[in-house]
Amino acid sequence: MASNRNGVQRGSAKFDRPLKPRLRPSSPSPGSALRRPARNSHAVPGRVRVAVRLRPRNAEEMMADADFADCVEVQPELKRLKLRRNNWDSDTYEFDEVLTEFASQKRVYEVVAKPVVESVLDGYNGTVMAYGQTGTGKTFTLGRLGDGDASDRGIMVRSMEDIFADLSPDTDFVTVSYLQLYMETLQDLLNPANDNIPIVEDPRNGDVSLPGATLVEITDQQSILELLRVGEANRVAANTKLNTESSRSHAILMVHIKRSVLESEDIVSSQNGDASHLTKPSKPLVRKSKLVVVDLAGSERVHKSGSEGHMLEEAKSINLSLSSLGKCINALAENNAHVPFRDSKLTRMLRDSFGGTARTSLIVTIGPSPRHRGETSSTILFGQRAMKVENMLKIKEEFDYKSLSRKLEIQLDKLIAENERQQKAFEDEVEKVNLEAQCRIAEVERNFADALEKERLKCQMEYMELVKELEQKLVLNQERHDCNNFVADNGEGPASSSADEVAEAKMLLETERNRRKAAEEEVERLKSQLGKHTQAEAEDVEIIKLRNILEDEANQKKRLEEEIIILRSQLLQLNFEADQMRRCLENGSSGSTFSATDSSMTQVRHSQFKDTGNGQKSSVATLFEQVGLQKILSLLESDDANVRIHAVKVVANLAAEEANQKRIVEAGGLSSLLMLLRRYEDETVRRVAAGAIANLAMNEANQELIMTEGGITLLSMTASDAEDPQTLRMVAGAIANLCGNDRILMTLRSQGGIKALLGIVRCGHPDVLSQVARGIANFAKCESRASNQGIKSGRSFLIEDGALPWIVQNANNEAAPIRRHIELALCHLAQHEVNAKDLISGGALWELVRISRDCSREDIRNLARRTLSSVSTFKSELRRLRIDY
Ligand code: ADP
Ligand code: MG
Repeated sequence: MASNRNGVQRGSAKFDRPLKPRLRPSSPSPGSALRRPARNSHAVPGRVRVAVRLRPRNAEEMMADADFADCVEVQPELKRLKLRRNNWDSDTYEFDEVLTEFASQKRVYEVVAKPVVESVLDGYNGTVMAYGQTGTGKTFTLGRLGDGDASDRGIMVRSMEDIFADLSPDTDFVTVSYLQLYMETLQDLLNPANDNIPIVEDPRNGDVSLPGATLVEITDQQSILELLRVGEANRVAANTKLNTESSRSHAILMVHIKRSVLESEDIVSSQNGDASHLTKPSKPLVRKSKLVVVDLAGSERVHKSGSEGHMLEEAKSINLSLSSLGKCINALAENNAHVPFRDSKLTRMLRDSFGGTARTSLIVTIGPSPRHRGETSSTILFGQRAMKVENMLKIKEEFDYKSLSRKLEIQLDKLIAENERQQKAFEDEVEKVNLEAQCRIAEVERNFADALEKERLKCQMEYMELVKELEQKLVLNQERHDCNNFVADNGEGPASSSADEVAEAKMLLETERNRRKAAEEEVERLKSQLGKHTQAEAEDVEIIKLRNILEDEANQKKRLEEEIIILRSQLLQLNFEADQMRRCLENGSSGSTFSATDSSMTQVRHSQFKDTGNGQKSSVATLFEQVGLQKILSLLESDDANVRIHAVKVVANLAAEEANQKRIVEAGGLSSLLMLLRRYEDETVRRVAAGAIANLAMNEANQELIMTEGGITLLSMTASDAEDPQTLRMVAGAIANLCGNDRILMTLRSQGGIKALLGIVRCGHPDVLSQVARGIANFAKCESRASNQGIKSGRSFLIEDGALPWIVQNANNEAAPIRRHIELALCHLAQHEVNAKDLISGGALWELVRISRDCSREDIRNLARRTLSSVSTFKSELRRLRIDY
């Protein structure tokens, strides 16, 4: 570094971020992970911040150096430090912070460590290191517990206090390891027997971990003090045993923080708006970060190896870590391509602190004594170089798919329970209303029966009275008659009048009888009318009421069921994505993932589905059991477009599993899928439906069914008007599958299957073309078989339908799958004499010759050769062209 006499040496021209404490909310709200303004989560450049701290003169120095001035002079307001060379000369250095001998521990913590701790709480890695000669105050600065005097507390204790104040105990975790590095051996200070801990680096992201180290979960401030005490005691004991002093080893405190962060998502809205309570659970993120506090071994060892009577090996080892730290800092400061991190354990461990993904503060401690001027000078230079090191900050967070899945499950369970509760309440209500209606009917019947009985008794009484009256009249008449007879016997008289009276009485009796009968009939009629009336009235009201309730409940149930389906399909999809993600991570590649909605027709998709393990299978099985295939299929016709999309995705996922296909077809799923294709309204629906049909079409048993249900025409229509390459790939795949079935060959062609395939080539996407080529090869093979069996005669339909130019054009396509299918198709066509002339005029002969010579597959090569030497038209043409064969 160039230095001017009495000039300022700048560690770095950049002062991009002041090392000032930030204002923070006084009490953190539990559960909210981001309490401070969110920062750029990708990469924030940050330089290593360097502060210098001057220790006050100790008692010995007061005595010994009484006549000498201090070798340093600090100018904290200018953030400068002057190191005296001699009485008239000094060098000036500038740091991010200059701390005088009077600086309090609180202030030191706030300017050196607090910004790092805050950034750790935001999800970044952070490191605080103390570097300096033994006795200059490294341990004082970092490790003081403040037992006697709280103002003495060092950086370790204060960092943990700030961490605990910011964390939420329910959702966040803190674990701590405490280690000692001595002579390139890493020892666990929480379990000293464990003295050979390996350092492991993740090749993907460079993260450093110590799998063998004890990790203690810390839940309160008291336990961290306890842990630091135990660690310190073990450090002293270990050093006594080795007959060394702790200044020769590095002490490393590692604090791992895991925080849950929630990111709210959109609300799933449905068409009628009443499913708005279906808020998608927020995306749970786990943010991991690490704070490393390193109390380095005394820096004087770097220069004094062996000179103080240490064993040479020991001195070398102690030197190794510190001197490689210096080398790494130099290399980083000079932007060298190679940084020798691997040279020592210390640098391997701190790899992700320097120039890595961390925010780093270094405090260099110096003493005032002129006797150690040399040491002090080299310490200051170390700090100056460190100021040039730039770090890249990366936030580390990953999706907690497990917890999202768990939340969805819980929401689902709640909905199922709610549905059940409502169903039960509905049934109870129906029962209650029924019971009430029955009671009322019984009461009406009873009232009526009473009234009837009263009426009957009344009639009876009246009748009896009448009879009695008549009988009295009769007796009276009889008496009169007897008397008259007596008179008649004695002369003519009133005999005729008494006979009249009898006749009159009889008539009266008859009239009364008739009246009674009429009254009884009337009563009977009234009775039946009353019965009908009361019943009808009661029933009408109740039925209307019940019907309304029933309708409401049915609507509610339908809505809940639809929500369940949506949630299940989301769950299914998430499981699938989580699985893909897991696989990607395991494979260490960021290769493309198969979305569950991308229902593919290939076997690859099948095996993927199978591979997803029990979780996926059980989800599908649960879906079947709990919702029922019939119900899922019925949702394909739902009025709600959103529900239809979800339902078709679920059906496509199910159809991708061979084991489900039979059930889907038996339950009418194929017809529903074809119906969706026919009704075409949405590209997603059409693509997913076509994919599901393609999967079903792989199964020979379904192919005829697809044909009889008009599927070929539908697929051909879709082929002609779809634009989306994915849809076209699915349609081409479905037709290609049908092309392999001998029994539907003729219908396939007559309903435009071949023309549809040829139309699809307009898309140009190699995946789509490969499906077209497969279809043509399948068709040519079946047709060739039919010709051999005498079922078919005449030219190939492929030639008739104009496929030959495309076949010839693509026979040597650079995409291997396309080329191979077309080569096969050409060989099949060429086997039949009737096609030979067209093949020659269409230029296919040259392709056949090429195939017979260059094709990478031996069986196809041989087939081409055999064909050329056996079909006479080819033979004579080759002779005419003087091509030896
Ligand atoms: P190191 O860890 O660098 O070897 P220590 O932290 O053990 O140094 O400090 C050596 C001695 O100096 C201790 O007795 C400590 O109390 C004292 N000391 C260090 N720094 C200060 C300071 N800033 N103020 C008062 N005493 C200090
Ligand atoms: Mg120390």
